[in-house]
Amino acid sequence: MSEEKTEKTSKIDLNRNDMPRQSPEVRRHNFSEVALGYTEEIAVTEAKRCLQCKKPRCKTGCPVEIDIPDFISFIVKRDFASGIKKLKEKNCLPAVCGRVCPQETQCESQCILGNKKAEIAIGRLERFLADWEAKQGVVDLPPKAKPTGKKVAVIGSGPAGITVAGDLILLGHEVTIFEALHKAGGVLTYGIPEFRLPKAIVAREVDYVRKLGVEVFTDYVVGKTRSIDELLTEFDAVFVGTGAGLPWFMDIPGENLNGVYSANEYLTRMNLMQGYRFPMSSTPVKKHVRVAVVGGGNVAMDSARTALRMGADDVRIVYRRSHAELPARAEEAENAEEEGVIFNLLTLPINYIGDENGWLKEVECVKMELGEPDASGRRSPVEIPNSNFRMPMDAVVCAIGNSPNPLVPSTTPGLQTTRKGTLVADPETGKTTKDRVWAGGDIVTGAATVILAMGAGRKAARSMHEYLTGTA
Ligand code: SF4
Repeated sequence: MSEEKTEKTSKIDLNRNDMPRQSPEVRRHNFSEVALGYTEEIAVTEAKRCLQCKKPRCKTGCPVEIDIPDFISFIVKRDFASGIKKLKEKNCLPAVCGRVCPQETQCESQCILGNKKAEIAIGRLERFLADWEAKQGVVDLPPKAKPTGKKVAVIGSGPAGITVAGDLILLGHEVTIFEALHKAGGVLTYGIPEFRLPKAIVAREVDYVRKLGVEVFTDYVVGKTRSIDELLTEFDAVFVGTGAGLPWFMDIPGENLNGVYSANEYLTRMNLMQGYRFPMSSTPVKKHVRVAVVGGGNVAMDSARTALRMGADDVRIVYRRSHAELPARAEEAENAEEEGVIFNLLTLPINYIGDENGWLKEVECVKMELGEPDASGRRSPVEIPNSNFRMPMDAVVCAIGNSPNPLVPSTTPGLQTTRKGTLVADPETGKTTKDRVWAGGDIVTGAATVILAMGAGRKAARSMHEYLTGTA
């Protein structure tokens, strides 16, 4: 670091402002949002800590290239309307990203103040502006380019699809989204629980792209209702953003017992079908007393925290590596621990045991230890011989990952897939192996983050625009 910068950083406030949250004792009994957001005062205080660097490193860590110091500078001036406008130039889902993006590994990890462990809380400031705008009740719509007469179909209304749609409509193209489920939002709607991402916020952000002029059809299963080839007779270009919704299982005995769920099923019943509101909602979800959640990512934390809120007394994360290797955001693992989720680390389920009626009653596990690093650089878990033990459980939620849904690839000749079932697409443009078809998000990368899917959507939109306007 230069001397000038050292002197500058030595004068600033190194105390990052915490965000108020519901207390663990209260929140473990309700589905309301855990984090309550910054007040105006806290947001301005946090924004004033930003050094407004001439070469802002934070910006290089953002997959959708948000002008971070610029939007922060408007918060300092209390000009929140200009702040949200600046933010939305690059991000049509600010309230979502401010809540669920892993900023600690992206923009915030690049912030110059990170050297002093005092990085600016960029995500919290982003959320503050989005929530401020929602409270005003008036949404400022950006200007649109002249109509080009070109039509684009977007398959899937998750983060990648919404970003492509939002970008292309502003560039003057006619955009239609086709969503297979009865509500738009993709994983934001069916996957992430209400207490982490309220569905009203997702609906508001989907509504924003509708207000921009994007048409959204729900209950429209591309691959069944119509194929991509049929869409290509009506549309000039197609973007595939159908995500990764095919759950993995461990292929161990007992996975067909009652009470064994994929995280996908469990969270979809709770979130999309609002099972937690039973009997007000029509999809019943059985209330379990002892729940083991297998896996260590954000989906595992979401499942465990949902099970607690549904009234389970004993909820455990069962993960084969140690705490240091948990793939979940540190904040989410901490929230789960605070709420009372027990972590059975270095533990691997090998057998689910049922009762005479076919309901799960026990989970047999083995203890693990960490061996040499594997291809991912993480130390591999190795089974400790004769370490078997059983845990009484009446539900297991398997949260070990997802593959892309094979419906679109299997019904679209010319669309090449990898061995893992993901679509082959150019990482810089999103172009697939089929003419006039682009793809991005989890269908290409496998299950990843909201912001990476949005980044892929932005790159694809750029490439599609070049093709549609003949400037490629
Ligand atoms: S957020 Fe951090 S890196 Fe970005 S401009 Fe502010 S101080 Fe600099």
